[in-house]
Amino acid sequence: MSHQHFETLAIHAGQEPDAATGAVVPPIYQVSTYKQDGVGGLRGGYEYSRSANPTRSALEENLAALEGGRRGLAFASGLAAEDCLLRTLLVPGDHVVIPDDAYGGTFRLFAKVAERWGVKWSVADTSDPSAVRAALTDRTKVVWVETPSNPLLGITDIEQVAAVARGVGARLVVDNTFASPYLQQPLALGADIVVHSTTKYMGGHSDVVGGALVTSDAALGEELAFHQNAMGAIAGPFDSWLVMRGVKTLAVRMDRHSANAERVAEMLVGHPKVSSVAYPGLPGHPGHEIAAKQMKAFGGMVSFRLAAGEEAAVEVCNRTELFTLGESLGGVESLIEHPGRMTHASVVGSALEVPGDLVRLSVGIESVDDLLEDLRTALG
Ligand SMILES: *Cc1c(COP(=O)(O)O)cnc(C)c1O
Repeated sequence: MSHQHFETLAIHAGQEPDAATGAVVPPIYQVSTYKQDGVGGLRGGYEYSRSANPTRSALEENLAALEGGRRGLAFASGLAAEDCLLRTLLVPGDHVVIPDDAYGGTFRLFAKVAERWGVKWSVADTSDPSAVRAALTDRTKVVWVETPSNPLLGITDIEQVAAVARGVGARLVVDNTFASPYLQQPLALGADIVVHSTTKYMGGHSDVVGGALVTSDAALGEELAFHQNAMGAIAGPFDSWLVMRGVKTLAVRMDRHSANAERVAEMLVGHPKVSSVAYPGLPGHPGHEIAAKQMKAFGGMVSFRLAAGEEAAVEVCNRTELFTLGESLGGVESLIEHPGRMTHASVVGSALEVPGDLVRLSVGIESVDDLLEDLRTALG
């Protein structure tokens, strides 16, 4: 709602100097309870830190500003945020459409947890709006989209799928973890709720696990805040502070992540051992036009397949030195992983199974020349 630009909001929204001391960044209020000035006499609305904590409030205000929303809520992890969201929006018998390449943990939450409570789900290729329409039932309450998706970097047209969801009164949820609000603003494109694993680009330094929900619907924001407090999976003060610290540099980091990933993708396209490269910045990517329309740049994630198959893919993961073998993504340091055996092992045998010859890179902000050399050496 502010006229200020993203880079300014990232540093200033919700970050007024501390009223008591003038500290220029919000202090870590490592506290559970607050002195009341007489029974019910709360100072600034704070009574107990599950309900609200000043450090978390500062982050939540910041998150809302960055996504162009009205209400932001910070959670203990991305999955805690997702769990709160689905238990706020759904009752037994309701139906959800989830993408056929959803984050493995999101899929597990629906398939192994929510299903036991009577929530129905089906998978669709969300990059095809007509496939989403075909998956709708008379009980569909939520359409879930991840764009770019994990690990195949599929692109979904948020505006088009928002229209499909709106047509049946369902809410559109966009997991904006891969793009970050700097590169993509789902609420402005018609989404009802944005989900984040702040563990990734928002935190940006591989030192915190967290999650967030942002909505521009004030009434829904109230309902989500009620459930956040009722269920309790909040972000602690120190974790909130770490995410805030990360977010201040999000814009400059995403610019560099995107520039480095573009160079890495181009190198891989020309490499004889690589059979295909998934990066939305490549003109040959099936979602390139849509990504160019709804994203400011194409992000730091690149996946590619090895012509020689699964063992070759595993070997490349074992041979890089600068690219650290590990799960997660979005930190300043480059990571490499084998989705089939690591992040996406939980979807083996399901409709979401990923190819065995696939390697996923989270391209960091190191010197791109060093990153290219490391990959060329590992590929042999
Ligand atoms: C990591 C991730 C999540 C889950 O977040 P956690 O913080 O690990 O709970 C959800 N969606 C995407 C796209 C992710 O990468």
